[in-house]
Amino acid sequence: MKLLVAVKRVIDYNVKVRVKPDNSDVDLTNVKMAINPFCEIAVEEAVRLKEQGIASEIVAVSIGPKACQEQLRTALALGADRAIQVETETFPGSLAVAKLLKAIVDEEKPDLIILGKQAIDSDNNQTGQMLAALTGLPQGTFASQVSIEEGTVNVTREIDGGLQTLSLTLPAVVTTDLRLNEPRYAKLPDIMKAKRKPLDVRQPDALGVDTASTLETVRVDMPRQRQAGVKVGSVDELIDKLKNEAKVI
Ligand code: AMP
Repeated sequence: MKLLVAVKRVIDYNVKVRVKPDNSDVDLTNVKMAINPFCEIAVEEAVRLKEQGIASEIVAVSIGPKACQEQLRTALALGADRAIQVETETFPGSLAVAKLLKAIVDEEKPDLIILGKQAIDSDNNQTGQMLAALTGLPQGTFASQVSIEEGTVNVTREIDGGLQTLSLTLPAVVTTDLRLNEPRYAKLPDIMKAKRKPLDVRQPDALGVDTASTLETVRVDMPRQRQAGVKVGSVDELIDKLKNEAKVI
């Protein structure tokens, strides 16, 4: 069974995000970048399926500038067998990413495609769904448990007020939720070994995909600064403030 895992390079989740002075975008100068946390969970799930003898090959794919190779090397160190970078100047929008992933799916013919449910930079939560629509494959989104049976993948999803379990015919698209697993750290010898694993670079033109954006970011703003709180001396003072200053009662 062949697995394809989509891995996005994003700003590290520990970094406090800064906005460019002209509010055109987030400032990525000298900022630590990492694998999107949900993609890390996708890689971990693929590696576990391989360790259980269910999967035989894991291919990691990332779309974006050359620097994405760093995250692909991490995926290789975590256990992917080979990697594909689809080289673009900037990060394309979700539809272009989904079309590029479809082109890779058409070539690679994986049995299962695992993506993160969401990239923490764009918060789009739509690439997996778009890929499923473009390929016509069944989708199990926000997976908190995945198990493979003869020709099917069972996906348990956290939904409002409970759990839903779906059975999808393979090949299928699955997107990962936070509780699916706890990703491991890459060990130093595996990081060294990953340098020798194959990493193929592809161009969107050669895959027949137009990556032109269909939307424009108009403006990016920092969240509004919260005002400091005040300490009140008594319940009466609190009630007075709520009534006459905040005017909420
Ligand atoms: P999004 O729909 O942008 O929130 O992203 C959901 C998932 O799609 C991510 O967790 C990745 O698995 C995949 N994805 C999105 N953009 C890229 C990209 N540039 N390269 C590889 N995978 C991506």
